[in-house]
Amino acid sequence: MSKGAFSGGCQCGAVRFRLDASPRDFMHCRCCICRRGHGALFATAGVYDKAAVTIEQGGDDLSRYESSPRNHRLFCSYCGGQVFLTIGTWADRMSVVLGSLDPGQHPGHDPACERHIFWDEKVCWHDVGDTLPKQEGYGST
Ligand SMILES: [Zn+2]
Ligand SMILES: [Zn+2]
Repeated sequence: MSKGAFSGGCQCGAVRFRLDASPRDFMHCRCCICRRGHGALFATAGVYDKAAVTIEQGGDDLSRYESSPRNHRLFCSYCGGQVFLTIGTWADRMSVVLGSLDPGQHPGHDPACERHIFWDEKVCWHDVGDTLPKQEGYGST
């Protein structure tokens, strides 16, 4: 489903990246760590083979926060925009915060790999209203 490169970056433009594939997994994470980290009801991340993710600019401007043991959130030191997540048990993969894709970019994912995760932690005051799979924790990947 990949159609060449996809591009994105942080809000201020210091960090820029290129994706040379579509995500192998596509998740709307409802966990409290994502909610607080993004200040939003959920965060959407695509999981990529590490080789498909190229940081084209601003790699030195990324700060890391270990939000849970061995899991890091990488964000721009200037604007605070979160762009990547690394999960300790997935050494060969990189998660990209898909809200950081450039306007008009579509991740080109296979709809079959899209789902909600950490459904058990979602807020009770928002009606999601879709028919995507909803899993506790990470579910199966
Ligand atoms: Zn920035
Ligand atoms: Zn999360």
